[in-house]
Amino acid sequence: MVRSDSNVPVRSWSHAVVTGGAGFVGSHLCTALLDQGAAVTCVDDFCTGRLENVADLADRPGFTLLRADVTEPFDVARTADLVLHFASPASPADYLRLPLHTLETGSLGTRNALALARRHGARFILASTSEAYGDPQQHPQSERYWGNVNPVGPRSVYDEAKRFGEALTTAEAGVNGTDTGIVRLFNTYGPRMRGHDGRAVPTFIRQALAGEPLTVTGDGRQTRSLAFIEDTVRGVLAMARSELLGPVNIGNAAEITMLDLAHKIIHLSGSRSTVEFVERPTDDPAVRCPDITLARGKLQWAPVVPADEGLARTIDWYREQAAA
Ligand code: NAD
Repeated sequence: MVRSDSNVPVRSWSHAVVTGGAGFVGSHLCTALLDQGAAVTCVDDFCTGRLENVADLADRPGFTLLRADVTEPFDVARTADLVLHFASPASPADYLRLPLHTLETGSLGTRNALALARRHGARFILASTSEAYGDPQQHPQSERYWGNVNPVGPRSVYDEAKRFGEALTTAEAGVNGTDTGIVRLFNTYGPRMRGHDGRAVPTFIRQALAGEPLTVTGDGRQTRSLAFIEDTVRGVLAMARSELLGPVNIGNAAEITMLDLAHKIIHLSGSRSTVEFVERPTDDPAVRCPDITLARGKLQWAPVVPADEGLARTIDWYREQAAA
């Protein structure tokens, strides 16, 4: 490894393993790594992922698809120097449908992915989440905040699995010296999200394009901070290149209420849809906004795609999919 002038190490990889590589974020990571010249093994059990997300990668040199459930020990054929552990149901609709699988993926799956990284001497990155902060009592959330999670609420299968994964990753680095890092991703959106995965952006876009009312939960004043997928991928790979243990927040600090987001999507898509208020889910966080001081300072990373541009590109993608 060499160091650049900015003190961020310049690393490249010859073979990266991406668990959850057929999902939304994972498939974009596979593409970016192949574009940078790495061979990529995508490991996925397709519980929420889709073959079509990686269909255009199948013919690219260096791409391998391994259908496997990471809750069982797994290995890859050639030596890996990077393991990005992104396997996990991530949308509330998915993890409420798959509660035990979500817990096992965050615990056993993380253990198996860490063991793979240890055996291969690879850098390991855990995809954690802003949900580790629960319904936060500090705003914005910095990595120093320990969170406010209900350990027995319906969302706990996801939040606590990720928190356990963070603890396991940290212990693995301490006990076995494995080169690990943790990113806490805040809400990310973009092409390849499933229209019915239950998250706000794909739901609103699907409804707007169909001319249906946009279903805003509660009074719509709850906020989220939305990062476009290209920015998130850049942040994850900057973390992978670094030697930081983390956790490091990767997200866009531009905060928006769910009601404003609904109106923005109606406007950008030229839809005539209206807004309909529906019941708010249990333990739904009231606010969510990352403090990205650490990522800016240590990774020289910050999001650059404005919401209007990212949402317009995502809407275009859904239109193309509908046309196809
Ligand atoms: P996704 O559901 O689109 O992708 C998850 C992928 O993991 C799917 O392809 C699924 O089939 C696979 N998977 C799940 N359990 C598995 C298992 N046991 N073995 C093998 N594969 C398995 O979700 P996403 O939005 O792409 O999220 C990817 C990762 O990023 C998750 O770990 C999630 O917690 C994290 N994350 C995402 C966001 C976001 O806004 N998208 C925010 C925070 C954290």
